[in-house]
Amino acid sequence: MTGTDAASAARDLFLRVTGAEPSGHWSAPGRVNLIGEHTDYNDGFVLPFAIPHRTHVQLGTRADGRIRVVSTFDEVPVEVPLADLAALFPDDRESVPEWSRYPLGVAWALLHAAGRDADVTGVDIAIASDVPVGAGLSSSAAIESATAIALNDTWDLGLDRVALARVGRTAENEAVGAPTGIMDQMASMLGEADATIFLDCRSLDANVVELGFASAGLELLVMDTRVAHAHSTGGYRERRASCELGAEIMGVAALRDLTVGDLAAAAEKMDDVTFRRVRHVVTENQRVLDTVQTLRNSGPRAIGELLVASHASMRDDFEISVPELDTAVDAALAAGAIGARMTGGGFGGAAIALVERAQAAEVTASVTRAFADAGYGAPHIFAVTPSPGATRA
Ligand code: ADP
Ligand code: MG
Repeated sequence: MTGTDAASAARDLFLRVTGAEPSGHWSAPGRVNLIGEHTDYNDGFVLPFAIPHRTHVQLGTRADGRIRVVSTFDEVPVEVPLADLAALFPDDRESVPEWSRYPLGVAWALLHAAGRDADVTGVDIAIASDVPVGAGLSSSAAIESATAIALNDTWDLGLDRVALARVGRTAENEAVGAPTGIMDQMASMLGEADATIFLDCRSLDANVVELGFASAGLELLVMDTRVAHAHSTGGYRERRASCELGAEIMGVAALRDLTVGDLAAAAEKMDDVTFRRVRHVVTENQRVLDTVQTLRNSGPRAIGELLVASHASMRDDFEISVPELDTAVDAALAAGAIGARMTGGGFGGAAIALVERAQAAEVTASVTRAFADAGYGAPHIFAVTPSPGATRA
């Protein structure tokens, strides 16, 4: 689906379900993380950018204090009184379909963050998206951010973008029950064209850093392996637990508080697996800082080695890659990519490759060939242009 298709699919769905025209249209993007993986929940640094793929929300108000959500994913509408949201989340969430916990959870978290009871107008919300689901491009943040900005405007709550990103995370953590950091929502809320968001996940300080891909003639390819993140939930929890253990052993609040210079001491104090998890996070934080400096001082062509080192660290130390991701990265580099790495939580999903625009077709063909040679299903490879964040359309 293209962006226009998703916008009109949401509108058509709204019409079908309510019999009326929507009164407003909002959208928010998915994201790609350029570098900084599994650093967010360690209070560290990340460098994501918003992508052109977006989730669209068409909204209309209603007078009966109820919220009804419907998505092209599941055309059976889910409807609850706004006054019941406080009882629904988190304890009774099983009583509504999983997908609906994202938009309903946002409504719940938003009212709470704004210090409001259910004294706001009822709403109908129809959702459609062209963000691929489960490919590591954060369709979850896209649906949360699109719903959050739509309801913040409609209810005139006046929350700023960072507050709305927090609302999205609260919805995902508590209403859906997925223990994720805040990177995805911040990227979706704050993204800008041809720029990346340098985010300090401790302070939530966010700085826009120019990427300059367009003027340098570079393209960023997403190579979706189409391997579902089979172990993602269990593996993610395990990695988080290792990071917490490592921080505890080192006597710091979070791994963010360690530097590369502390690693020799860390190696003495913990088992090998925990140490390698710690080493990934500590070196990855440094790589994010180095990437920002390199972008500012030398431009995007100079960040290739940092991307490659990041992949090696995730593959060898954090052990969250899979053979398909390694194949995509290796084949892209062999075909001349400037840099490549897996992106997202790991155990499947997508890798990225930074390439000269003129080489994009060749890299795509090489990676596709490498997958066929290895007997893997065909990857889905496409370019993403760093794009603006959530907005009223
Ligand atoms: P991703 O990497 O795409 O963020 P997640 O598992 O975090 O993967 O989130 C995907 C889930 O978000 C879907 O299974 C669904 O429940 C919900 N979701 C995302 N987009 C939509 C949508 N357009 N309509 C309904 N639910 C959606
Ligand atoms: Mg997600």
